[in-house]
Amino acid sequence: MTRDPRSDARATLRWYLHAGIDEAVGDAPIDRLAPPPPPPSGAAAEPPAPARAKPTVDTPRPTQTVTPARPRSAESAVRDAVSVAHHATTLEALRAALEAFDGCPLSRTATNLVFGRGSPDARMVFIGEAPGAEEDRQGLPFVGPSGKLLDRMLLSIGVDPSEVFISNTVFWRPPGNRNPTTAEIATCMPFVERIIELIAPDILVAVGGPAAGALLGRSDGIGRVRGRWFNYATAGLSRPVHATALFHPAYLLRSPGQKRLAWRDMLGIQKKLESL
Ligand code: URA
Repeated sequence: MTRDPRSDARATLRWYLHAGIDEAVGDAPIDRLAPPPPPPSGAAAEPPAPARAKPTVDTPRPTQTVTPARPRSAESAVRDAVSVAHHATTLEALRAALEAFDGCPLSRTATNLVFGRGSPDARMVFIGEAPGAEEDRQGLPFVGPSGKLLDRMLLSIGVDPSEVFISNTVFWRPPGNRNPTTAEIATCMPFVERIIELIAPDILVAVGGPAAGALLGRSDGIGRVRGRWFNYATAGLSRPVHATALFHPAYLLRSPGQKRLAWRDMLGIQKKLESL
């Protein structure tokens, strides 16, 4: 019996999906194991290699330049993150520092860094969970379906989305949209904290349970934390920031019945903003 090649292809695609490979990032495949191309004619030629003993077994492939993952512990990555983030005195410098930071393994699988969008002088900072596929493509947070809903929620209380600053607990898309791990969030958190310190907003909003857990230290679930107010304080803030949490818009898209509570929370945010 001959095998249907299409079922092999389907099985391979299923395996890719399972491994988190769920989108094409280029039109043509790249053979990363291929030997480097010869230098263009006219380019300075390399000096001839010294004569070597003939290999007796397989001839090794020509050496390639690769960027190996620097093995390091999660603690040392967090320590580096704290030091690098602390030295940034503007959002642009922080963004550049993150571009160069190699302590979070997510940066190796993502297409783009997703730093943040909005105003550096924002009165409100919103922190979501993690970039998704559209955010990864555009390098901007909350630009997919849940971002469109978040923008509408802001407009509903008279706030233009360009007036707030929006970011996430991690700055790169986790493969296959899996949840970011505790270690990945811990490594990115010094940069998130620095964003908040540099903007020093009046109000901080954790968008969804994971952001509420990471920023507010609450493990009692978003259903219990949303709509309540906390003080968010770090050594780099001259005064604590009023902080609250919202249902994640992705959850609201799946459970529209909860929009009623989210609307109430948005009114609470509007009231707090007006009172400050
Ligand atoms: N969900 C998030 O939490 N963040 C994004 O940027 C997009 C979707």
